[in-house]
Amino acid sequence: MPIESWLSSLAQPDHSAIDGDLEVLAGRDYPFLTDACVSSQIERLSGHLGRRHQNVRRLVIGYSLYIRQVDVILQSGPRAFCGGRCPKPPAGCCNREHFVVMNVSDLMSSRNSPAALHMAHMIGLLQQTESAHNRAGRAMRPGYCSLLAEDGCTLRLFKSPRCAHFLCEDLEQAMLRENGVAAQPLLSAMKRAESSTISSPTDYQNQTVITEAARLYPDSLPQA
Ligand code: SF4
Ligand code: SF4
Repeated sequence: MPIESWLSSLAQPDHSAIDGDLEVLAGRDYPFLTDACVSSQIERLSGHLGRRHQNVRRLVIGYSLYIRQVDVILQSGPRAFCGGRCPKPPAGCCNREHFVVMNVSDLMSSRNSPAALHMAHMIGLLQQTESAHNRAGRAMRPGYCSLLAEDGCTLRLFKSPRCAHFLCEDLEQAMLRENGVAAQPLLSAMKRAESSTISSPTDYQNQTVITEAARLYPDSLPQA
């Protein structure tokens, strides 16, 4: 599995923050993940990031746990449409460098917090490591986003909020056809998360996405 394989490959220079990070992060609610998956992800990222900027490190690990849940949600339905019925092959919506966390309008926001900027920097470094690991044996697709391989994105865990939440109109319509109006709250939450200006750490994620997806895709929740 690409996420586990990348996490296992990460250098572990400093274990000193792991216990504290587990204490703060592991007890939170991650409905789409098993406890074992949560603990292992926190341990690997904490051991990799070490003592660097405790607050930002924990925000970034928390973001990764959120995106891992969004990954499960996309796998529950939307990704099959992207893979088989995308109206814009071969690159779909990956036509530009959407992985860059803060675009010009985010950077011009007068409310930018230092923590949000620092998160963007740390996530950018992790994106490079994740993409490099996931490129092994894959050909890249020139002319589009530089992280796009011939068979899809080389990021899973550290996608930007824009990449992680984007659903094109055709995909939205397909989800509405398949699930009826029950899909609307999730679609609205995804759209809000995708288009919100990132100026503080809370703008990186939208917990309503998780809540609404748990209603729409109950079969994707791990068995208790
Ligand atoms: S979101 Fe739409 S454009 Fe993007 S890959 Fe999926 S189907 Fe294609
Ligand atoms: S990072 Fe991945 S999902 Fe985002 S635009 Fe690039 S290839 Fe597409």
